[in-house]
Amino acid sequence: MNLHEYQAKQVLANYGVPILGGGVAYTADEARAVAERLGGPVWVVKAQIHAGGRGKGHFLEEAAGGKGGVRVVKSLDDVQEAAFQMLGNTLVTHQSGPEGREVKRVYVEEGCDIARELYLSLLVDRATSGVTIMASTEGGMDIEEVAEKTPEKIIYQPISPETGMSAFHARAVAFALGLTGKQVSAFTRMALSLYECFVASDCAMLEINPLVVTGDGQILPLDCKMGLDPNALYRHPRLMDYRDESEEDPMELEASRHDLNYVKLDGTIGCMVNGAGLAMATMDIIKLKGGSPANFLDVGGGATRERVTAAFKIILSDPAVEGILVNIFGGIMRCDVIAEGVVAAARDVSLNVPLVVRLEGTNVELGKTILAESGLPIISADNLADAAEKVVKAVREAQ
Ligand code: ADP
Ligand code: MG
Repeated sequence: MNLHEYQAKQVLANYGVPILGGGVAYTADEARAVAERLGGPVWVVKAQIHAGGRGKGHFLEEAAGGKGGVRVVKSLDDVQEAAFQMLGNTLVTHQSGPEGREVKRVYVEEGCDIARELYLSLLVDRATSGVTIMASTEGGMDIEEVAEKTPEKIIYQPISPETGMSAFHARAVAFALGLTGKQVSAFTRMALSLYECFVASDCAMLEINPLVVTGDGQILPLDCKMGLDPNALYRHPRLMDYRDESEEDPMELEASRHDLNYVKLDGTIGCMVNGAGLAMATMDIIKLKGGSPANFLDVGGGATRERVTAAFKIILSDPAVEGILVNIFGGIMRCDVIAEGVVAAARDVSLNVPLVVRLEGTNVELGKTILAESGLPIISADNLADAAEKVVKAVREAQ
């Protein structure tokens, strides 16, 4: 789950990280009121969408004034005008996809006198199985580009999960960034707070780009992207309130409502599988047999009739799906119960693409009988390879 910039900054502030004054606004009048409260003389109006690169982005609508999603302004009228132009319009950035995102809220922030722009992020590092701090002197830039063209400009500081973060980790990064004097201790305090926040909030990533050194030597996060591990969200009811469902993929959102693990992919064969490992294997074998999966979908251990129906509906609402492969292992669940669920769901959703079902496990024969006697055009398969072959073939023949 991703947070908006203003939400992420509120979270950081709770951990003692210094941030600029600012406030969120849903209308141009509210934006003006926030700016009045902050006082000026310079404000920045920032579009709040779940995509980076807003400053260099552009709006699809002419009414948005032909500028990007981060605007530095110097009067209350201009704050109001910038907010008016952004709200309700569609901002396209290199991370938003060509369709862009509608701006529904803006953040009005104090203007900052920037001396240096740095890059700082914390991420879950698969190589070390811990948190790694990543930093660069090339702040404000697209970090993927920095990593590709000038990889030597990126500093990595792994943190061992046993010991956690210490001041020396932070100082090593501070020196590598060329910070001196009081900036080193300010940076160290901030980096320790960021690490504490990262671990305590179960973050998946925390990126501050840019982290700035101001004209008077302060160190402040000017932008903040925070991603939370969705599996740990239940531990953070207050962070859950920050969820903005309008920023999520509608199918993935619907799946999460039914506790289904669904990820949309760009192939044509919809998959319904129980267990993430089996789902991965199913996707692999579809590829091996010359097809391409339309999704990853793990219906979980307790695949009830309701969940199977919901899963079918989600798969079928994807216009790219030309065939479905159900691959379910009846361990705790019995195959006959699953078969009943599949039959009921297939009836419920008026299935219009070929459906291949492979069942294995407890009561498998009974399950197969239920499928065969359902009167539905369900293609039954005996093993995983057979199932993948059959669905790929059925999709080809249906074309
Ligand atoms: P994005 O990364 O989505 O483009 P940022 O928040 O990083 O958005 O803003 C883009 C640029 O705008 C920053 O690199 C910085 O130069 C400038 N900027 C952002 N916020 C402020 C601010 N409060 N004061 C002055 N400049 C700002
Ligand atoms: Mg940024």
